[in-house]
Amino acid sequence: MTDTKKTVYTFGSKKAQGNAQMKDLLGGKGANLCEMNLLGMPVPPGFTISTEMCALYSAGGRSIVLNRIKDEVQTAITEMESQMGNLFGSNTEPLLVSVRSGSRASMPGMMDTILNLGLNDKSAEGLANKTGNPRFVWDSYRRFIQMYSEVVLHIKPLNREAKNPFEEIIEELKKVKNIKLDNEFTAEDLKEIVYLFKSMVKKVSGTDFPSDPWEQLWGAITAVFDSWMNERAVYYRQLNNIPEDWGTAVNVQAMVFGNMGINSATGVAFTRDASTGENIFNGEYLINAQGEDVVAGIRTPQQISLEGSKRWATSAGVSEDERFEKFPSLEETMPKIFKELQDIGLRLEEHYRDMQDIEFTIQEGQLWMLQTRNGKRTGAAMVKMSVEMFEEGILTEKEALLRVQPERLDELLHPVFEKNNLEKAVVLGQGLPASPGAASGQIVFFAEDAVKWAEEGKTVVLVRLETSPEDLKGMVAAQGILTARGGMTSHAAVVARGMGKCCVSGAESFRINYKTRTLKCGDIELKEGDWISLDGSTGKIYKGQITTTAATLSGDFDALMNMTDNHATMKVRTNADTPQDAEAARRFGAQGIGLCRTEHMFFEGDKIKAVREMILAEDKVGRNAALAKLLPMQRQDLEGILWAMEGLPVTIRLLDPPLHEFVPHEEASQKEMAEEMDISVAVLQEKIRTMHESNPMLGHRGCRLGNTYPEISEMQTRAIIEAALNLKKAAIKTFPEIMIPLTGTPAEMEMQKKIVNKTAEQVFREYGQRIDYKVGTMIEVPRAALVADKIARSAEFFSFGTNDLTQMTFGYSRDDTGKFLPFYLENGILENDPFQVLDQKGVGQLMKMAAAKGLSERPDLKLGICGEHGGDPSSIEFCHSIGIDYVSCSPFRVPIARLAAAQAAIKNHKQIESESFNSQPELLEI
Ligand code: PEP
Ligand code: MG
Repeated sequence: MTDTKKTVYTFGSKKAQGNAQMKDLLGGKGANLCEMNLLGMPVPPGFTISTEMCALYSAGGRSIVLNRIKDEVQTAITEMESQMGNLFGSNTEPLLVSVRSGSRASMPGMMDTILNLGLNDKSAEGLANKTGNPRFVWDSYRRFIQMYSEVVLHIKPLNREAKNPFEEIIEELKKVKNIKLDNEFTAEDLKEIVYLFKSMVKKVSGTDFPSDPWEQLWGAITAVFDSWMNERAVYYRQLNNIPEDWGTAVNVQAMVFGNMGINSATGVAFTRDASTGENIFNGEYLINAQGEDVVAGIRTPQQISLEGSKRWATSAGVSEDERFEKFPSLEETMPKIFKELQDIGLRLEEHYRDMQDIEFTIQEGQLWMLQTRNGKRTGAAMVKMSVEMFEEGILTEKEALLRVQPERLDELLHPVFEKNNLEKAVVLGQGLPASPGAASGQIVFFAEDAVKWAEEGKTVVLVRLETSPEDLKGMVAAQGILTARGGMTSHAAVVARGMGKCCVSGAESFRINYKTRTLKCGDIELKEGDWISLDGSTGKIYKGQITTTAATLSGDFDALMNMTDNHATMKVRTNADTPQDAEAARRFGAQGIGLCRTEHMFFEGDKIKAVREMILAEDKVGRNAALAKLLPMQRQDLEGILWAMEGLPVTIRLLDPPLHEFVPHEEASQKEMAEEMDISVAVLQEKIRTMHESNPMLGHRGCRLGNTYPEISEMQTRAIIEAALNLKKAAIKTFPEIMIPLTGTPAEMEMQKKIVNKTAEQVFREYGQRIDYKVGTMIEVPRAALVADKIARSAEFFSFGTNDLTQMTFGYSRDDTGKFLPFYLENGILENDPFQVLDQKGVGQLMKMAAAKGLSERPDLKLGICGEHGGDPSSIEFCHSIGIDYVSCSPFRVPIARLAAAQAAIKNHKQIESESFNSQPELLEI
């Protein structure tokens, strides 16, 4: 960066030095303030200090940055002065400004903001005279002192139970004056608060509160840069994968006032419903208030639209008369402004082609736009908006598909309360349905406790008067969030929706006592640790624990899923071992089973006894006797699964895990087993001891079992083929694919294939009928990937077992990463947990090579993936890029995988289009 490069970008009076494309440099807020000016919308003038200055601040510190921006900031302030017709620092007509953060990605409430900057004792008097509204001026001034002192001077409560010193002064004065609400303070009262605040600040900090507006401004700018590195911002970035080097911009903007009386207001509007996705203009506002009042949830906000207001009244149990008198909508109180706001909202949505989240202020009957951004939304809203925007012609089908984050579909698939249980549950009260879903957990009142209890394996619901960004970790750890204060746009509501977490806000009838750690609702008192249940879709709060059931899916969801089929080239199968799971996956659109782990069928009822007999048998004769008992049970299970997947391929894997996983380890079951086998417990224990392996994951498992005990593979093959032939008799079409686990050498595969084919031929002869089947292998040992061409000579398909492949490529035990992985992730040694997100640079390269080698030997080789990564969107995108035919994942991840597969195809297509001039495709970096 050269010293002459511009650092400050101005906007105002429908002109701007930036635009919406400049988010990297100006942050989202700054770029959109410029854009709204260019669109001719009413925006108070101001300027943005670029994100590059945040990087310089981190590297070089305060004085380097201030020197660098000083002249440009002064020029920009002069420009604002001429547009606003007042002067920064004037005693009679002062220009007041807000100073706000704004990074490239929206980080709601994570960084700091200061309003009303520029006030001091003299200018407050001057402004009070000029406006003739001293109450408003002293109200603004006391707010400024509090915000500035908290953010810049770090005057805060000493501990979590201590009261905020500013709030304490206010509460004390309320008692003295015998009033309940802030609004009841007179100008004189507020002036007294200013005096008391300043005295307290001096006592705590040892210096006077700064009265020079320039000193205030530099302090505020550096505090915003500092807030980029505060704990909650750092945590939020980690959670949302936002790089630290993006930095925040600083927006300095002329103040407009929503607290100038009853024809002033402030609020937040959404062009569609952020919770449900419904296409209705909605939002909340407060008359005679400043922006932070809406977000902080200090007063209950009113709805902006009449329809929204009526809906709110119904759910809150407020009569129409009371609603109209106490909580009228903006559409009723200021119909013209409402119309203007709605028109601007719709224009913005059309312009950005996405739902907008808008902040506005009304100052004495004039509307001002303070922010617009693409609104955060629930998973359900994401789906509905995308589908409807496609239907409305706003988005193409591809764009609509790319708008939905696959992981967010999880929210739609989440359980809801079990109906029978719900009917019996005691309703404690009602709040606002801030973020949908159902949550049941033990009550905790502090974020730290939520984290601690969750770490201990408890399920918790975080109960707060209201949440602040400091509570973020606790909100992540909790199943659900309940707040006694705040509306649908309060911090708790916005953040919970962003996370897709159940939240009920504004349960005003609840009395929360942090000291006694109790929650009171009417006569019922609950304490920390008691169970509570929340319905984030209705706002109802229940006593005790309520069980949940699977969610029902909307027509929009089906429409989205249907759209995926128009684009995805990879198929999506499921990992299922029971007919129930197979059916569930099929309902979600699974196109087959990619992995049926036969060993999972061995644990139920009598089967485990026969399995144990087989394992503990002295010789082949004994094993065969036990296998003969297992055969009908295995065949019956497989018939169920093949039937559930009628007409679709089903990959059935032969026995894989180390055998000792099945033997009885507890004395009681050892005794039972010994009796069953007619041997002594001591003999049995000795047998178990001899089966012990030092590294069972690398031991006698996978195809090593099937090759050393071919009778196991024979029994399993027979069960599969007989099941398919039995179903054929009932005219049910099946496509079994027999999969050999843990192959490492071509000879291992060949030997297994011979056993399978020989057995199948034998069964065909016995039945006098044939069916089609395939024999293939898992690729989960690195050596298999290295010699994949040779293995493909006998394998008709490969399925990448990326759980084992990751384990063996990294040399990390699948079951023991807990001791070092958190450290590796925190310290950047690993970017992701490789067992969740495919390691494309290492494991992915083995897959890519194996796929290419396999195809070179057998061009019609089918390629699949059945490790956990088969349900992870970024891993799915990688699979698409290396030519995998299908991914296979657990039933509830099938919709996520279908969307991810469609997105991979769309993105890849786009890339190919844009690369059509660039003939050399980029090689993957190793
Ligand atoms: C794998 O290793 O990726 C796999 C699917 O098999 P399992 O998890 O059963 O070892
Ligand atoms: Mg495996």
